[in-house]
Amino acid sequence: MLKKAKVLIVDDDPLNRLVLEKTLADEHDVFLVENGEKALTFLKTTTVDLIILDIVMPGINGYEVLVQLKENPVTQTIPVIFISANTSHDDEAKGFELGAMDYIAKPFSTVIVRARVRNQLLIKQKNDLLEMLASIDGLTEIPNRRYLDENLSREWRRSRRSGTPLSVILMDIDHFKRYNDCYGHRAGDDCLKRVAHALVGACQRGCDFVARYGGEEFAAVLPGMDKQEALVFANKLRDAVNALNIPHKASLNAEHVTISLGIATSETGQVYAEQVLLEEADLGLYQAKDSGRDQIVARTVSVSR
Ligand code: GH3
Ligand code: MG
Ligand code: MG
Repeated sequence: MLKKAKVLIVDDDPLNRLVLEKTLADEHDVFLVENGEKALTFLKTTTVDLIILDIVMPGINGYEVLVQLKENPVTQTIPVIFISANTSHDDEAKGFELGAMDYIAKPFSTVIVRARVRNQLLIKQKNDLLEMLASIDGLTEIPNRRYLDENLSREWRRSRRSGTPLSVILMDIDHFKRYNDCYGHRAGDDCLKRVAHALVGACQRGCDFVARYGGEEFAAVLPGMDKQEALVFANKLRDAVNALNIPHKASLNAEHVTISLGIATSETGQVYAEQVLLEEADLGLYQAKDSGRDQIVARTVSVSR
C-alpha cells in the first residue's frame, strides 16, 4: 500500500481545524497546530508533504510563517496552501508572491479542499521523483556527483556546527583503461556497476553514502567517522571489491579488479571548506596509486588549511 502523505494544518480556529481534519483524515495523515510558532517548532522534528496555512492568526501570521519556511532549506520545498477569509486579490497575490502554491477562500467547500490538496500532493510527488532521478547516476544507478556535492555540503555544515569528525573516501578502479582495452567497453560498464553496488552494499549506517564521483571513481561520505574508523571502513570497501573477484588479466597489480583509496578526515569539523576534504582525499588516492595500487592512504586535514 502507498504511504499516506503527511499534511500539517495550521489554524487558530478550532472549528476550522476540526472540519479540515475531518475532510482530509481519510486520505492523509493529518497533524494539527493552532499557531505559526507551533507550526515552525513542529516542523523542526517532523517532515510533512503539505501545509495548509491560515493567514490571520495570533502571534506570527501565515505570511511570516511562509517567509520563514522558505528561508530554511529543509522546509522550503514543502508546498503551502493558504486558507483564509481575507479574499481580496491583493491578499491572494501576496500569498503567491511569497511562494504559496494555492489559495483557498473561507468559507470553503470540503470537496474543493480535498481536490486541491490531492493536486498539490501529486505535483509534490512528481517533483520529488524528478529530484531523485536527477541525483542518480544513469549507468550504475547509485547517487551521482550532484547528490554528492549537495550532501557533502550539508554534512560538512553539520560537522562544523556540532564539532564532530567527517571523513571522505575517494576510490578509483585500478588499471581500468586496460580492463576496457582487454574486455571491451560493455564489460567495463558491467564491471563499474558491480563495483558500485558492492561499495553501496558495504554501507550499513543510514548516514553513510557512496556516490559515483565520475568515470571509474567513487566517493564515500562518512559523517561522524574519525580517521581510525574511516580506515576500518575503507578496508571493508576494498574487501567488498576484492570479494567480487572480477577477473582482470590485464591488471599490473592483481589477477582481479582492485581499487585504490584515499581518505581525508576533518577531526573536529573545522576544515576551511568541504572542497579541501575532497582535495586531500584525492592526494591520498594519488599516493595509494603511487605505492602500488590496491592500497589505502589516510590523511588528516589540519585546522590551519
Ligand atoms: P589507474 O590505475 O591509474 O587509475 O589507471 P586507469 O586506467 O584506471 O586510469 P585512467 O584514468 O588512465 O583510465 C580510466 C578509464 O576509465 C578510461 C575510461 O575509458 C574508463 N571509463 C571511465 N568511465 C567509464 C564508463 O562509464 N564506462 C567504461 N566502460 N569505462 C569508463
Ligand atoms: Mg583508475
Ligand atoms: Mg580515474
